[in-house]
Amino acid sequence: ENNASEATNKAPVDGPALWPAQAQAPQVIGRQLVIEGGEGSYIVTREGQRLFDGTAGLWHANIGHSRPELAQAAYDQMMKLETYHTFARFTNDKADTLAEKLAEVSPIPAPKIILNSGGSDAIDVACKLARRHWQREGRSSKQIILSREFAYHGLHAYGTSIAGLEFNREGYGTESLVPETARISLDDPEQVRRAVEEIGAENIAAIVTEPVQGTGGVNPPSEGYLETIQELCRDNDILLILDEVITGFGRLGTMFATERYGLEPDLVTFAKGVTSGYAPLGGIFVSPRIWEPFYEDSPDTPIFRHGSTYAGHATASAVAIKHLEILRNENLVQRVHDLEPTFGAALDSLAARNDDVVEVRYAGLLGGVTLREEVSAGAVCDRMVDKGFVSRPLRGNTLQVSPPFIVTEQELDDFLAAMDEAIREEAAS
Ligand code: PLP
Repeated sequence: ENNASEATNKAPVDGPALWPAQAQAPQVIGRQLVIEGGEGSYIVTREGQRLFDGTAGLWHANIGHSRPELAQAAYDQMMKLETYHTFARFTNDKADTLAEKLAEVSPIPAPKIILNSGGSDAIDVACKLARRHWQREGRSSKQIILSREFAYHGLHAYGTSIAGLEFNREGYGTESLVPETARISLDDPEQVRRAVEEIGAENIAAIVTEPVQGTGGVNPPSEGYLETIQELCRDNDILLILDEVITGFGRLGTMFATERYGLEPDLVTFAKGVTSGYAPLGGIFVSPRIWEPFYEDSPDTPIFRHGSTYAGHATASAVAIKHLEILRNENLVQRVHDLEPTFGAALDSLAARNDDVVEVRYAGLLGGVTLREEVSAGAVCDRMVDKGFVSRPLRGNTLQVSPPFIVTEQELDDFLAAMDEAIREEAAS
């Protein structure tokens, strides 16, 4: 009598069984692009339309789509062993090998590595480990995780709780699912210093930050911001967690952003670029300061109670090992580094010739194009799809530009030309 659909006087929209993520369902049902294929920098819809993937999916398809070597690596592993867990006395050879390979390219010297299934997972484990660290040190009041305004750290309970994009934190009846969190300024280190004083370093476990904010609108760090945050962390016994889920494995032209900005974080999260999406995999690099006490040869050595069935999944790990080989053999990180000046110049030129572009921001092959408020970035993306190109609207009426590392200069020019045209058409409509 009093059911939900009557209460709103609207019948529910029928649609496919799959619940669409991050959308008002009726807005997307019936107009979803069903992607059935991919090749290199292109994806193919169910209707056969070929689209240039100007975002590399959700910033993940760094080496391009549908490479047979990775299918082969997965096949070979599954024929031998799909996976075996890594709890207690068990491990599997591929998880072990992958961890060794990751240690070789680690942004943190002499790391231990925790593997899991994606970026949200990695954030969960990093925040838990930061709290566990201080608890073990006997400083259990250090619980609060600070994150920046507009931050995106995935959508598991911790990612939701530390979200800087307010709409991702809202609707759960509390300020955040994990109460011990607070937001800090996007780009003003002095404000961060004051926040730390107000909250009290004795209550703060860690500061977590994306080196370059992605979903928040592609925001490279303001001059000195990351360095000041790091100093603040060091002076106040606060752990620094760098979320390299987007930037890790070459997106900024260095293997990790940690290198590019000369940082020394305590924990680094990764996902996406570790496999370019060929298998769901993520994890964290842990610095010796944090892992050593858990490795002490003593009957009282503490345990970090974290893990999951698929942590160190053997097939995902085999894929990641092959993927790292491809990154290295094809010099793809260097390629991003070499493309950066061309990429930046092309974005600057778009801003110079199109009055509806308010600002462009970029680092490596990671770019954002902010439009005048009157010209909807979402509508521009729809027009771009009609022209055969994929972009995505981010916070602040910004268009995402993050092509696969294998993009050619010609493809980049064509992509930005289509963007330019779509912006003009939308502005004139
Ligand atoms: N952290 C950052 C910086 C991200 O951009 C994302 C995803 O876009 C995540 C974490 C969450 O990763 P996942 O979607 O693999 O859970």
